[in-house]
Amino acid sequence: RTEEVDFEGLSQQISNITEVQSKEIDYLKERENYRREFLGNISHELKTPLFSVQGYLLTLIEGGIDDENIRDKYLNRINKSVDRLIYLVKDLDMISELEKGRINIQNSPFNIVALAQEVIDLLEIKAEKNDIQLTLNHPTNYQLKVMGDIEKIQQVLINLVVNAINYSDPNTEIKIEFQETEERIKIMVKDQGVGIKQEDIDRIFERFYRVDKSRNRNQGGSGLGLAIVKHILEAHNQRIAVQSKLGKGSNFFFHLRKV
Ligand code: ADP
Repeated sequence: RTEEVDFEGLSQQISNITEVQSKEIDYLKERENYRREFLGNISHELKTPLFSVQGYLLTLIEGGIDDENIRDKYLNRINKSVDRLIYLVKDLDMISELEKGRINIQNSPFNIVALAQEVIDLLEIKAEKNDIQLTLNHPTNYQLKVMGDIEKIQQVLINLVVNAINYSDPNTEIKIEFQETEERIKIMVKDQGVGIKQEDIDRIFERFYRVDKSRNRNQGGSGLGLAIVKHILEAHNQRIAVQSKLGKGSNFFFHLRKV
């Protein structure tokens, strides 16, 4: 006896396969768009400092080099632009590793207060130049032990504090504060800076998203700082969040597991 052909079942199977394929195609298209957009962003980011260097070099070549003042001023500017290129390339390296999902988290217990003090020491000169005070709400020898990748969490704190400095006015304060609960420590970086509109808050963690395009590019950020923060915390199964009031300041915070 020949088996009856189940046309309905077959057609269902075919439509299932087509659905899977079209989902895969959508996924590949999305990835391709993402890649294209990323490349576009990178070349755009590279252009500004590179064209600046070219401009300064031309001025020097065309005679500026003979004037001691012009020479010093332009060499300094070239140095700054090259610095920016280096930061950008370093951040790109980091973000591409993080986005590949290949990030290697080395969990160990450490004192988050001491780490925050180290970050303050690192950034004190930058803050002083901007007449901004950096403070901690605990003495450095206070013990708040958390679990995490100390180097990566240091990067998170550096990125948050650098932003807080960049988006604050002189004579303001930036506070790093901790709140202890039974299982977790809440870590906050609070500034009294320009603040962020609600509609922008949802987007600032995207790569290269800037609220004020001109202001920030002059200040030399790579536009990747918060995207890096978000990825590092995700790798710790944590999230970065922010509360902000336009013109009043922002509070960026996240949690780490207590030891
Ligand atoms: P950038 O290099 O531009 O600072 P980030 O990814 O670190 O890149 O930040 C993205 C954008 O989020 C910034 O361009 C800025 O508009 C906004 N932003 C980040 N931190 C703050 C802050 N503390 N106060 C106000 N705006 C901020």
